[in-house]
Amino acid sequence: MSPTSKETAAIVLDCQDHGESDQIVTFFCEDIGRMTGIAKGAKRSQKRFVNKLELFSSLRLRYTESRRSNLVFIAEAELVDSFLRLRQNMSLYMAATVIRELTLSATRDLEGDDGFFALLQWGLRAMDGQRPHSSRDLPCHKRLHLNARSSVIPGGGPRISRPSLVGVAGRRPLCTHSWNEGHSALPVQRSVMNILALFQIKFFEQIGYRPNLDSCLRCHQPFSVAQEYGFDSRGGGIVCGRCQKEQGQASAIALSRGTIKILASAQNQPLHRLHCLQLSGSGLREALSFLTHYGHHLLQREICSLKPFSDLRWQG
Ligand SMILES: [Zn+2]
Repeated sequence: MSPTSKETAAIVLDCQDHGESDQIVTFFCEDIGRMTGIAKGAKRSQKRFVNKLELFSSLRLRYTESRRSNLVFIAEAELVDSFLRLRQNMSLYMAATVIRELTLSATRDLEGDDGFFALLQWGLRAMDGQRPHSSRDLPCHKRLHLNARSSVIPGGGPRISRPSLVGVAGRRPLCTHSWNEGHSALPVQRSVMNILALFQIKFFEQIGYRPNLDSCLRCHQPFSVAQEYGFDSRGGGIVCGRCQKEQGQASAIALSRGTIKILASAQNQPLHRLHCLQLSGSGLREALSFLTHYGHHLLQREICSLKPFSDLRWQG
């Protein structure tokens, strides 16, 4: 009896040629988690797979399981969302690559989804400039900013039009277009980094290493705006200035109180409200710096795709 065909929602994370006509594709799937499959004849197929097995494509997959291995057989794929905009802008594409690399680094095949699929979808949708995926789009009553000087959003300025079509390897790697229509006019470069920071704070929680931003790791005193803090990657949480002095915690990464407040708030926000939080200026820099350091420590490897972001010129 032939194995039963199954269906799932999936996002393409990797695609490699295999032999003359096949492709090996790694997906992240709803409920199933990471899954690798072989798409027989994908390189020749003009119907079943053409333009569908591209990185980041959101698909509806039909597949069958193998009795002998974890590799499934991909029967058919229906394109749900190609996230077109992030393919047309170098900054967006590079940032989506960070999300991909983090996901591939922290997951294994068939370990289950556990909310990870929704986070992945949120990250790609946000980068693509799409509205939050929710039954209702709630207004942002409160936007949190790190400091008054650096966090002013140029929302009062003229609306910036959507980007012209530029290929991934196009001539304009950076641009200053808004990412979220009708929501803000943040330059792409900064808003992409904001999404990356928010994605990572949720990502670490998702893989079971939620940074403790609520109280000092050493004295367990709750976070206070009267204290200075640093982040201890080994301990996975903030350490107050007093404890750092007493225990010589020189290796803690400096983290301002404003940044801690926003990131702690992000931990408690549902995904459809996450876009309301905006780090900017020095807060965004230090948030990404601490998250990169923490990720390096947890995953025991450098996330190569994060590197180019440290070379970009910061705006505001
Ligand atoms: Zn303390």
